[in-house]
Amino acid sequence: MGTLRVDWVHPFPHTPYTAEFKAYYAQFEQFLRERVDSVRIDAEGKYPPEVIAELKRMGAFGLKIPKKYGGCGFTQAEYGEICALLAAWDGSLAALVSAHNSIGVPQPVYLFGTEEQKQEFLTRCAAGAISAFALTEPDVGSDPARLATTATRQADGSYRITGEKLWITNGTIAELMVVMARDAETNKISAFVVEMDSPGIEVVYRCRFMGLKALENGQIRFTDVAVPAKNRIGADGQGLKIALVTLNTGRLSLPEACLGGTRRLLGISRRYSNTRVQWGQPVGKHEAISHKLSDLATVTFAMESWANLANELSMREGYDIRLEAATAKEWASTRGWTAVDETMQIRGGRGYETEASLAGRGEVPEPVERILRDSRINRIFEGSSEIMHLFMAREMVDVHLQVSGALLDPKATPADKLKVLPKVAAFYAAWYPKLWFGLFTPFRYGEFGKLAPHLRYAERAARRLARSVFHGMVRYQAKLERKQAFLFRTVDIAMELAVLVATVSRADKLRKSGDESAVVLADVHARNARRLVEQRFHELWANDDDARTALGRAVLAGEHLGLEDAGIVAPAVAPAAEA
Ligand SMILES: Cc1cc2nc3c(=O)[nH]c(=O)nc-3n(C[C@H](O)[C@H](O)[C@H](O)COP(=O)(O)OP(=O)(O)OC[C@H]3O[C@@H](n4cnc5c(N)ncnc54)[C@H](O)[C@@H]3O)c2cc1C
Repeated sequence: MGTLRVDWVHPFPHTPYTAEFKAYYAQFEQFLRERVDSVRIDAEGKYPPEVIAELKRMGAFGLKIPKKYGGCGFTQAEYGEICALLAAWDGSLAALVSAHNSIGVPQPVYLFGTEEQKQEFLTRCAAGAISAFALTEPDVGSDPARLATTATRQADGSYRITGEKLWITNGTIAELMVVMARDAETNKISAFVVEMDSPGIEVVYRCRFMGLKALENGQIRFTDVAVPAKNRIGADGQGLKIALVTLNTGRLSLPEACLGGTRRLLGISRRYSNTRVQWGQPVGKHEAISHKLSDLATVTFAMESWANLANELSMREGYDIRLEAATAKEWASTRGWTAVDETMQIRGGRGYETEASLAGRGEVPEPVERILRDSRINRIFEGSSEIMHLFMAREMVDVHLQVSGALLDPKATPADKLKVLPKVAAFYAAWYPKLWFGLFTPFRYGEFGKLAPHLRYAERAARRLARSVFHGMVRYQAKLERKQAFLFRTVDIAMELAVLVATVSRADKLRKSGDESAVVLADVHARNARRLVEQRFHELWANDDDARTALGRAVLAGEHLGLEDAGIVAPAVAPAAEA
């Protein structure tokens, strides 16, 4: 609503890691280095049994589970470090461990389960029972509220589950699965822990992907599967909420995976840029490549700052982490993708060459090609980029809808509108003028030294953003919710400002502990972020949105079919697939 809360991230919070965690981390790193052959895992498309056995022995399926249930009891921040480490080494293994710990049985049972359920399921998971989370179906992806799998209540209170789930990570090897299903009579969705050896469960298909080659992911069919009443998590009808809350916290581990990958890419890029000589000097000294190195360094620092902050905030009792987690997921997955694309560019042909081929020629087998394949999915699963933008945009306009919803509602009668008018007028008369007149404080945030102007900018930009959202609402009224290009730009601005403030606050903390280099990273990051923010502000009102929407609709209607003629005979497409 236009107020920048620097106090909310400053001083930058950090809960020190325990000595026990540090020892575990070192042991985990050694295990990856000495026992995990990622080239083989990628080539064979399967997890070696001895690697899974060792992960179980190390307690990797109970990383966040409290010690009283046999888990490691690590904090969200400590768990995040393990996710980053795993992803830097092997994307497939990172997905196995994080799908289980972040969204599989441990998370919803810990958040919503009864003590008996915790005793039973958390203990089993901590001992190595692999689990999965099943929400998606063949016809239901981004809009899970429409899911069709049914849970029919029996006379004895138990349930029978029937339906099909698609793309379930760990689904082909899981011992336990959280399944969201709808009561056919009440239409309410509930969440269940399902034993995967129950009669009626069938792995219909093992899915294969562009990357994450070893992912044990599949299409799972449930036919009249008996589930005892005690396996329902939370209250009847709470299933969608449980799924969405689980995904909220789950979204904190994906940015850690992006961070792990980006850290590794920075090292790969730096080494190659120093040693590869073209036109008489290392390629890193050519300005175009040095800018890429600068961007990789600043994005790593900023990604780390936001991931650390989001983890810390999530550890505060009762903190609503939805927006920070969505920002973390969206910002890190988008920037992580740019980072891998630019690293591939820096390494030229060697970036595109596989590790095995590089090694075969006697060159350093850097995994850029594999990381690129493994990381593209980050912008799709656990909430696609578009859905993350929509979710954050809704949060941003929510207050306006609450205050003036009746005015914008096309179905509201003139009498309804007249009734709410005084309340709406009073709210905006008090709120709106403040967005124009910030205090004249040229020395504000002076304690941040060289970084202070960036915070002053963020403060002004936050007010401008609130004004812009309001102006958008006045201009588009009820149509605003369909103006995705406008809304997505406002979300981009909000994310950039949030990450900028976290980055500056963390750099300030590091500077005070003697690390001046952090100030340079934060300064260059903030300059880039401000340029992007200005561009987005400009595009809010100067754009081709209507023309592009019209053309997109025309393409959809088949008006430009001639463009699709690639000069080859395309395989026949079934009408249903084209609809
Ligand atoms: C490797 C992999 C692992 C997965 N693991 C799991 C898992 O463990 N458990 C599970 O339940 N699911 C899992 N999924 C499913 C994943 O979460 C979905 O793919 C994701 O939710 C998107 O759904 P969809 O692919 O059906 O896309 P769709 O919903 O069909 O969307 C297609 C495109 O349209 C966009 N779009 C949709 N709605 C809108 C809108 N209103 N406005 C603008 N754009 C929109 C989307 O962003 C996307 O770009 C996995 C998928 C993959 C590929």
